[in-house]
Amino acid sequence: MVGPQLIIYGTRGVTTTKDKGEFHCPNCGDRQPYRLRRVRRFFTLYFIPLIPLDKLGEYIECDVCNGTYELDVLEYEPGAADAAFEAEFHFAMRRVMILMMLADGAIDDAEVATICQIYQSMSGQPLDELTVRQEAMQCQQAGIAVEQYLASTAGKLNVPGKEMVIKAAYAIAMADGVYAPEEQQLLERCARALGIGSRQLSGIIASFGGAVA
Ligand SMILES: [Zn+2]
Repeated sequence: MVGPQLIIYGTRGVTTTKDKGEFHCPNCGDRQPYRLRRVRRFFTLYFIPLIPLDKLGEYIECDVCNGTYELDVLEYEPGAADAAFEAEFHFAMRRVMILMMLADGAIDDAEVATICQIYQSMSGQPLDELTVRQEAMQCQQAGIAVEQYLASTAGKLNVPGKEMVIKAAYAIAMADGVYAPEEQQLLERCARALGIGSRQLSGIIASFGGAVA
């Protein structure tokens, strides 16, 4: 006698490795081997996956820490974030010097030339006087005050970036050879806007020392 046939069927997810490679694992903070894992639903008969159905998902798995990530982690390059930081503080250095120049009212020829020199020596990037003039006129029209600008950009700068911005501001204040009391006060307000205390500010100025003359 043969009893009633019991057919056991169902579906389940099956995880397979579709690719391997190396990536920058955000968790390990280093280059590591990864596997691209794909989960697909299979039709099973007697618990054996027979027929592939829909794709349930794909992810990247770090072989070292087993951290899992969306596929776009493969495009993550720590260098790109550094470049963005660099671009931000180069912009801030230029902007703070222009706003310092405007603080006494005028777009002065000698000061524009000095801004270009300081910017080039501190950033290693070229800067022409026309760009400085245009940016200065935009700032003048928009009525941007240097401290307000710095307060708004402080969150986008890291500590070395903030120090570079203060050095640039100090350099332009010293460009005429005199560190006038009102320039000193303005620099202190700039530092405060960036979250730099007066002791740290003195340290930055001391470290800059005779570099500007
Ligand atoms: Zn990892």
